[in-house]
Amino acid sequence: MATRTSRPRHCTYCLDPDADACVRVQPAAHGGAHVYAHRSCADDRGVRPWYVFTDERVGAQR
Ligand SMILES: [Zn+2]
Repeated sequence: MATRTSRPRHCTYCLDPDADACVRVQPAAHGGAHVYAHRSCADDRGVRPWYVFTDERVGAQR
């Protein structure tokens, strides 16, 4: 059974959990893995996220 905690998203930059953005998607030939990061970490590196997660952290930043 799939749960939202079964695969925690670790930030590719600082390696902490709870990354809230996807900064890279590997080509299918390379596994199609999605690489996640914190929006702030991506921002520090000038990386524009492909998409961000907004459904799980509502209230955490407002
Ligand atoms: Zn981070």
